Amino acid sequence: MKRMGLFICHCGTNIADTVDVEKLAKKFESYPGIVFSTNYKYMCSHPGQALIADAIKEHGLDGVIIAACSPTLHETTFRKLARQSGINPYQCEIANIREQCSWVHKDKEKATAKAEKIIKSIIEKARLNEDLKPIEVDVTRKALVIGGGVAGIQAALDIADAGYPVLLVEKEPSIGGHMAQLSETFPTLDCSQCILTPKMVEAGTHPNIELLAYSEVKSVDGYVGNFTVTIEEKATGIDWDICTGCGQCSEVCPISVPSEFEKGLGNRPAIYTPFPQAVPNKPIIDSENCLEMKTGACGLCVRECEAEAINFNMEPTYREEEVGAIVVATGYELYPIMNLGEYGGGEIEDVIDGLAFERLLSSSGPTNGKIRRPSDGKLVKDIVFIQCAGSRDPEKHKPYCSRICCMYSTKQAMLYKHSVHDGQPYIFYIDIRSGGKGYEEFVERAQREDKVIYIRGKVSKLYRENGKVKIAGVDTIANKPIELEADLVVLAMAMIPTTGTEKLANVLKLQTDANGFLQETHPKLRPLESTTAGFYLAGCSQSPKDIPDTVSQASGAAAKVVGLFSGEYLQLEPTIATVDEELCSGCGICISVCPYSAREMDIGKGIAKVNEALCVGCGACVVACPSGATDQKNLTDEQISSMAKAILKGEKES
Ligand code: FAD
Ligand code: SF4
Ligand code: SF4
Ligand code: SF4
Ligand code: SF4
Repeated sequence: MKRMGLFICHCGTNIADTVDVEKLAKKFESYPGIVFSTNYKYMCSHPGQALIADAIKEHGLDGVIIAACSPTLHETTFRKLARQSGINPYQCEIANIREQCSWVHKDKEKATAKAEKIIKSIIEKARLNEDLKPIEVDVTRKALVIGGGVAGIQAALDIADAGYPVLLVEKEPSIGGHMAQLSETFPTLDCSQCILTPKMVEAGTHPNIELLAYSEVKSVDGYVGNFTVTIEEKATGIDWDICTGCGQCSEVCPISVPSEFEKGLGNRPAIYTPFPQAVPNKPIIDSENCLEMKTGACGLCVRECEAEAINFNMEPTYREEEVGAIVVATGYELYPIMNLGEYGGGEIEDVIDGLAFERLLSSSGPTNGKIRRPSDGKLVKDIVFIQCAGSRDPEKHKPYCSRICCMYSTKQAMLYKHSVHDGQPYIFYIDIRSGGKGYEEFVERAQREDKVIYIRGKVSKLYRENGKVKIAGVDTIANKPIELEADLVVLAMAMIPTTGTEKLANVLKLQTDANGFLQETHPKLRPLESTTAGFYLAGCSQSPKDIPDTVSQASGAAAKVVGLFSGEYLQLEPTIATVDEELCSGCGICISVCPYSAREMDIGKGIAKVNEALCVGCGACVVACPSGATDQKNLTDEQISSMAKAILKGEKES
């Protein structure tokens, strides 16, 4: 029989206030298989761990049960301790008497009885545990970064600087993301392009980075350390290898359509680079608007191109790549302004969103930094910013706070005032959220130096009257209705995940949260990791963020990738599914239910097998198998049944 030790943690008062830990420790002293039982204030602390190590030695234990918090928090700590103390780490089990007991109950007597049952069931499981060894797999030391905004650029640079090759895949013709569209950035007011362009150039020329712009990831197979990805390089219409980026083609193109980069406030030709500092600085042809491609009647650019780089018949190409880790940095979009009909979104031309206003502020923007009304080009003398446009509105729009709008509206109001000295900016807000280094001071400066007027209240209606936009609302501090008229209204629209995030998440087999952002494993302890091993999250793909937080998270994700690449091989959990060859009928049900594609048919034997590197031990196949041919290591049917019996036996006794 195994010689097991039981260690019950008080977790300060977290457990001990609700569960009688001393009584339990005493009671288990005589439980079959338990040769040592004790309790301590903090088992995870240094003295707590020393207590366990000493007991293992002194009592010759070959199994330990730690009754404490959730295994997601300290299982690794205690298994490591078990290994260092000479026990197979898979002989260490956690009985969760905090999250599953003390935190959810008030009655001490009942909670103690429940904790006793939880501990008993875990002892029964531990009694049947086998010694296991982690599965070792090789790692492909090359990373894929999806999305070339500031998050993707930073992650790619950090991984590349650590000496590992990186594929940086961007769906647009240039990297840069939304930061390339910004004018100046809070809280320091440095020019966005000036700080971003050097990073874009570095990413475009780094010897360890291969940049695949105008490309998309179409499929991903494999598992952490060994993924195979298929990438589509979309048809640009131009052979980028020979194009010199001279721009002559764009100059002669007769087409003029609204520019996506300028948010429709400026135009571009059909053959274009999205903005002057684009990386790569090569054009693409917009096939929907090119005359030659639509009617066969133009070809002006072909005649102009000395390099003979233009090829209207170009087709997309596909390439397969092996990578070991994937950083997803697909960023955000703004909630479409037309969804805010109540604020004239999409109807009143002089009601625009924050990114469009960034283009008006930008000296390289469509108005060369002059703040003009889109409707008639008149200089804007009165401007109103409306916060939380679509955010914090669970009934009609998005329930969450977009986190950065208070700051960027403040910045925009300040920059407006720096441009139009006699103009007056007003900001309608619910409350000002300025939690960040130097942020509160920035808001205070906008009020003091730039005379930005903040009105606490909600706007009820916007309409056009006498060439102006009328804003009707309530000032909730003065508690009276308020009416303003403005030349331009800027809506701080909610930030939402980039269109296509859900589809990409399906391709990558990642989870999204209730609002469509990519789901992290744990919001506090593992915010950079996705729920699937080998995928890391950076920037606004995970939640709305400003640039400092985006860059920090990107560097964090890169550090995780470098950590993964730095070991000799990867160690994976061995608690995976097994197949009993005698019992398996080859029905294939397990293959269809496995969410991780870890099951396949062994054609020769006519039975199912498990890919050890892909299986995460979710147990779906174990439940589905009609022949009882499949089991899970250290969570066998026998173990589950003895755990259940231990609980039910207690039930009868009490
Ligand atoms: P993004 O900039 O959105 O980049 C994502 C990239 O991924 C894009 O290039 C996109 O094309 C690409 N992509 C998306 N899907 C795919 C796919 N499937 N495959 C390949 N590529 C894909 N922050 C500040 O700190 N200071 C400011 O002053 C400031 N002002 C702002 C003003 C406004 C109006 C707004 C809306 C935001 C502002 N921000 C500011 C926030 C800033 O824009 C973000 O923090 C930053 O851009 C986030 O970077 P990102 O890389 O996560 O996302
Ligand atoms: Fe490239 Fe030719 Fe256009 Fe010059 S003219 S940017 S070489 S496609
Ligand atoms: Fe523009 Fe198309 Fe004519 Fe070239 S062929 S100049 S891209 S319209
Ligand atoms: Fe697939 Fe889960 Fe079964 Fe492993 S345990 S083979 S991941 S269904
Ligand atoms: Fe074999 Fe069970 Fe899978 Fe059917 S479900 S193939 S019996 S392991």
